[in-house]
Amino acid sequence: MRKAAFLDRDGVINRKAPNGCYVTCWSQMHFLPNTAQAIAKLNQAGFRVIVVSNQRCVAKGLITIADLDSIHRRMCDTLAAAGAIIDAVYYCPHEVRACCGCRKPAPGMLLDAARAHKIDLALSWMIGDSGLDVEAGRNAGCKTAQLLSDGEIANSKADVMASSLLDAIDQILESEDLPDYSNRATSEAAKEMEGHHGDPQITASHDLHGKEDAFISGVIKRRGEIEG
Ligand SMILES: [Mg+2]
Ligand SMILES: [Zn+2]
Repeated sequence: MRKAAFLDRDGVINRKAPNGCYVTCWSQMHFLPNTAQAIAKLNQAGFRVIVVSNQRCVAKGLITIADLDSIHRRMCDTLAAAGAIIDAVYYCPHEVRACCGCRKPAPGMLLDAARAHKIDLALSWMIGDSGLDVEAGRNAGCKTAQLLSDGEIANSKADVMASSLLDAIDQILESEDLPDYSNRATSEAAKEMEGHHGDPQITASHDLHGKEDAFISGVIKRRGEIEG
């Protein structure tokens, strides 16, 4: 069984759009500092890296599934070019009122990814900037890390509190006593990287009606990954 780091997208990988707004085209996608470096550390430490994102902008009609998939593909390609591999992207396109199983804090996206990628949730981490991410992680049985700006710390239920994705990952690797390969190119590190080289492939199934049994809303997965 593998361990995974589930990453929220907005506010973790890229700058969050202003309140009430959404990232609906590539020009609005601004990577936060050190994102590629942080994800590369997860790759090297043997974590599968899986994005789990609430995107109700789809239900609101602000972006199509095809355009969202294309943003995610470009996000994965850009990070891969910087040495950071994202293994899969899951998102929930539903409205809050749809009561689907995938919109965080529900654990649906994490549970589904765990089945598809043979992930041990108890060894895995959910990293997000909102309380909903922490709740989703706890609901799935994962450890949790929350990115907080100054003065936000009081109410977090997360196991780890951090100022950035890189800070969270450094703390996680340290807490698990995992080696940080970022400055070493050992054969061991190269071995850990095996299985992280596939091109992401979009194999999306979409359900805009919030049916409980179809909560995989969009998946970019590595080519050749065997589902089961
Ligand atoms: Mg967020
Ligand atoms: Zn959903």
